Parts: sequence; structure tokens; C-alpha cells
Amino acid sequence: MDRLTIRNARLLTLGGPGPRRRAGLSDLGVIERGFVRCSGDRIEQVQAGDPEPCGGLELDVQGRVCMPALVDAHAHLCWGGDRWSEWDRIRAGTPWPEILASGGGILSTVRATRAADLASLAQGVRSRLHAMARLGVGATDAKSGYGLEPQTEARMLQAIQEAAQGSPVIVKRTFLGGHAIPPEDPSWPERLAREVIPDFARRFPDIVVDAFCERNALSVEQCRAVLRAARAAGLGARLHTDQFNSLGGAEMAIQEGARTVDHLEAATPDTVRAVAASTVIAVLLPCSGYALDGRYAPGRALADEGAAIALGSNANPGSAPTVDLRFAMHLAVRHAGLTASEAIVAATRNAAFALGLGEEVGALKPGLRANLLVLEDRDERSLVHAFAAEPPRHVVLGGRLLQT
Ligand SMILES: [Zn+2]
Repeated sequence: MDRLTIRNARLLTLGGPGPRRRAGLSDLGVIERGFVRCSGDRIEQVQAGDPEPCGGLELDVQGRVCMPALVDAHAHLCWGGDRWSEWDRIRAGTPWPEILASGGGILSTVRATRAADLASLAQGVRSRLHAMARLGVGATDAKSGYGLEPQTEARMLQAIQEAAQGSPVIVKRTFLGGHAIPPEDPSWPERLAREVIPDFARRFPDIVVDAFCERNALSVEQCRAVLRAARAAGLGARLHTDQFNSLGGAEMAIQEGARTVDHLEAATPDTVRAVAASTVIAVLLPCSGYALDGRYAPGRALADEGAAIALGSNANPGSAPTVDLRFAMHLAVRHAGLTASEAIVAATRNAAFALGLGEEVGALKPGLRANLLVLEDRDERSLVHAFAAEPPRHVVLGGRLLQT
């Protein structure tokens, strides 16, 4: 069995049960000087002091930070085409409704994705996973949602699986059939709940179901039907909600037992309290605020009220064109009021629970997958303070040192 030992490190262990909230949201579980030993693809030992010699590769990291690899709680990752000419038009001052009316936005990506074959979609996901791994992401969400009809949605889920099979990154597939309502099929949300979700639950039993609750997307009641169909089929559910308008989507998702509510830029103080009082995980996506309109979720209020908070890149071709979760961490501190420690917990331990991977990744704990980072610095705040930065000094995924 391949062995890897990282010694003389400042360890952020981030263990403990369940998603972290309140004081736990900023507790990194620091061991000032210790070692991590990996055996095969698992973490075997995490301890203060020096390791006994045991063979295998040993890295003396001279006091640098060693922590769990990052976990991206919300990413799209699979699409055809691009939105670059649309961005040119936005920068030149074309109003957004005009861009939408001319077939831009999500619907332009839907057209390009419907036209893309399995191999090209898988290649796109593969290259994004490769970039994420280099930047220190060891597990991620990957959503469908640019098909809005069964055939393309299924092709996207297959493409995600093909790409994931050759990647050291752990990928959780999310079926986002409720991303929007295609103009040619106004009954799509109802069909989704009645036919497509039960069918996909049989064909893709590992998926989680997601939808977008917003004006011009799905209504609260349409999303409720989607979430209920997911539960009836034995699947977990999540919801994009409260991004532009507060329509009651978050409260509905809590009632229906969703695992996460994602976005929350427009969440009211009442919604913040409802989220904090529930078991749902609030997934913040500050890269969208940066790319779109300068609005950010009330991260500080959520943390102070006791919500479990996770972070995602929201990687997509339009409103978050990045796979760098570290930038989301930076923005969460700069604009959503989190501390550096809270951003680290949100992008590791809590993001793992948001993906249903709390027993697999997001902490340095014996038995978990050996996904870890060694930073260039001896203070973890550097990870959050810097932006557009170099990759970490070392990325270890599944017990293997990534060669970048
Ligand atoms: Zn999204």
C-alpha cells in the first residue's frame, strides 16, 4: 500500500460531527505542529509531534499549513458553447432584458448544450475538473440543467459521470432539470415532477435534485412539486432560491426537507432566521454577485443567527465564469462578512455535508479520503486573503501527490 506522510505541519483538522455552526463555524481544530499519514487513498493517522518512520514518501513541510482539500458545494461544470459575445454586449451597455429577448442568458447555453454531443460535453467537464484539482478542490458538485428536456439532461449526467471516472476529484451529480422553463414547453416543471424525476431516479440513483425558484424561472409551488417528487423517489433535494427576489422559496425548501438553500442574496432577516433555525445548509455563491450586480448574501447575519454555511464557486458560463473556489472564499470575507476561518470551514467541512460527503471528505481524520493541501504559507489566512493566486504548494487527492 502506498504511504505518504506530511510532517512538521500546522494542521487544520476540521473534524467533529455534522455541519458546523455558531462557535464551530470558525473552529479549525488546529494542531500547531503535527503530521498526517496517508495509506492508499485514506488518511491513517493525524497527530501532534513527529511520526515513527514507516517508509513511503515523507514530506517535511517546515511549519506550513496542511489542511483538507477544498470542497465546492455548488458548481455547474457541464455546458456547451460560451457567453463571451454576450458579455461584450453587456459591457457595451445593452440592457439585460434585451439580451434575454434576443435569446441570450441561460437559453443561449441551452441551445448550445442541446447541440453538443456526449464526448464534447465530457471533455468540457474533464478540463474544468482538471483545473479545479490544480487549485486545490478535491470534491465538487456538478449540475446538469442546460438541457431542459430529458434527452439532453440525461446526456449531461452521463458526461459528468464519464469525466468523473478519470478524475481524482470526487464528483456529486446534481440533476438541475428545474433550472428554467423552456419557451417551447411551459408544462416542463409539471412533467419534470410527474415523469422525469421518477425515471431519472431509476436510471441515475446517485443524483440529487435541484431547481431554481425565481421570477422567470420556477415558482415556489412548481419547486415544491419538484422537491416532493425527489423525496418520493428517495432522492436528496436542493434549491437555488432568494437570488434576486424573496418569494418564500427558502422557507418552502426547509418545509420540504431540502438539504441546502443556495444563493440567498435577497434573503430577508426573517428568512435568515428561518434558515438558521433549521437543519438546512446555506450555500453562499459570492462569485455571482461579483460577476453580475455587486449583491451578496447576508453571510454575517446568517453566521450570527447560527446557520450552517457552505461555499460554492457556482462555476457556470454566464454569471460565475470561474472554477476557483478560493475566489469565492475571498469574496465571502470581503463582501458577505465571514471571517477567514469561517470561509475555510464553509469551503471544506460544511461544503462536504452540503454534498452529502461529510463522512468522506472535508476534514483531516483517520478513515476519510486522503484529500489534502499544503499551503505555501504558515498562516491559513493567506488562502483567503490572496486572490488570483498561485495553486497551493502541494495538492494530495486520494493519497496521491498531484503533479501540476
Ligand atoms: Zn447555480
